[in-house]
Amino acid sequence: MKDKLEQLLNDGLEKIKKLSNLNDLEDLERELIGKKSELNGIFKTIKSLSEEEKKEIGARTTEIREILINKFHEQETKIIESMSVLDSPIDVTLPGKKVSSGVLHPITQMCYDLNDAFLSLGFEVFSEDDISSEKFVFDNLNFSPDHPARQMMDTYWIKGTENKSSNERLCLRPHLTGASVRYLLKNGAPARFVYPGRVYRNEDVDSGHERAFFQYEALIVDKDISFASGMVMIQTILEKVFGKKVNVRMREGFFPFVEPGYEIDMECLVCGGKGCKVCKHNGWVEVMPGGVIHPNVLKSANLDPEEWTGFYINIGLERLVMMRYGIDDIRLFHSADLRFLNQFK
Ligand SMILES: [Zn+2]
Repeated sequence: MKDKLEQLLNDGLEKIKKLSNLNDLEDLERELIGKKSELNGIFKTIKSLSEEEKKEIGARTTEIREILINKFHEQETKIIESMSVLDSPIDVTLPGKKVSSGVLHPITQMCYDLNDAFLSLGFEVFSEDDISSEKFVFDNLNFSPDHPARQMMDTYWIKGTENKSSNERLCLRPHLTGASVRYLLKNGAPARFVYPGRVYRNEDVDSGHERAFFQYEALIVDKDISFASGMVMIQTILEKVFGKKVNVRMREGFFPFVEPGYEIDMECLVCGGKGCKVCKHNGWVEVMPGGVIHPNVLKSANLDPEEWTGFYINIGLERLVMMRYGIDDIRLFHSADLRFLNQFK
């Protein structure tokens, strides 16, 4: 078998040297070291040899394979170098292939646009984990222990933590607001920051609702925050995002963590206020709840509500994207349908 190996090597080297064409070289490579080659056949029989032979023949077979591969590369370079432009396997006169590129998801794009808008107003961008605790998503935010919203949020609780203390009772965050106290505990006040992220609710999916969706919250905490400065912030942000003046209205809203609370609506840009599926045919779309942060929330963040005040908004990113592009079904965003996503290139 040893002689056979050496013969394969010598014959192989001779044959490779004589070739001057890349296709022939490729054929020969297949013949000498391919799956059906004699050399590969020897590889397969090695396991039936004695231990000593296995070592010796195995090592030499591998070595020969390496030598042949190197020789093939060497010859290939030689052939290519000797070619004139006209013989080149690359036809420079052929039209190029279209390179297709990816594109940012419209929600990501909206998130970046909002980040830019807020950064230009001196805000910081903050993020935390998707898994939070009952303490941060409810207790700190002025939800009393028997508050109906604790059930209404349809929170996904993490198995095995049900009977633990509220700090250790874990869940997929049903909203982002818990991050506000976490940030303030760490950084203190004054503060102005945004905290975008995904939130989770065990809801029925329809054209306006998803089980996992993005939110984008913003909070200013300072000594003299007036309601008017909050409204100016909202107007400025919407104008930056849509590049034009957007009609906004406010209705009274109730959320445990704000007092007073508001529902902030914008005129539906899909139908121009005439009424469509997205705005449930009333011409307005809820885009963000907001309000003045509740004194109890400031207390959870170790801040004195006599000294500090805050203005909070929660922007529905998907709603804004629907407004920007006139999309009328929220489920399209997570459908992974390229016919939909490629439109945003
Ligand atoms: Zn509409």
